[in-house]
Amino acid sequence: MGIKHLQHLLKPCLALPLLLSGGLSSAGGHHDHQQHGAHVHGSAELQLVQEAQRLQLSLRSPLANLVSFAHPPQSDAERAELAAAEATLKQPQQVFNLRGGQCQVTAIEDNFKQLFSEANSEGHWDINVSYQLQCAQPERLQTVTIELFKQFSGIEKINSQWLSEQAQGAATLTAEQPLFELKD
Ligand SMILES: [Zn+2]
Repeated sequence: MGIKHLQHLLKPCLALPLLLSGGLSSAGGHHDHQQHGAHVHGSAELQLVQEAQRLQLSLRSPLANLVSFAHPPQSDAERAELAAAEATLKQPQQVFNLRGGQCQVTAIEDNFKQLFSEANSEGHWDINVSYQLQCAQPERLQTVTIELFKQFSGIEKINSQWLSEQAQGAATLTAEQPLFELKD
């Protein structure tokens, strides 16, 4: 696997350089990986950007938060487990809930296909999923609730950043505090 391939995998994470420049995670608990430098098991990262009627919500999580292994699947059992995680993440209502705004998901991009095809890779991988939405009344957006904690017990916290026309902020979401507001 070449560098180009890795850059492609990382691309969704680099889509929001301004937001990311603020620094998403602390130094503690990192461990190194062959593919991606470092990530923290138990933590995931989320960015939301809204502009006019377009809204994008991007999620990055260590694979190990979602299934019982950290590397690309190497057995039928692991492939089935990964497929179940993929099916969950492809149902937006299982991932997040937007109150107000009348938003509809128009596209989902992810790196599952690449993961399924990297059977000989040993390193720890991340899952990247990006949801594109179209909002009929973006000025009416109120709250974003993350539902992932109910689906994946391996996700303990989500370092979240958002930037809309009405609000911007950052917070660490947990099962106890899974939402943020998109209004003042
Ligand atoms: Zn890892």
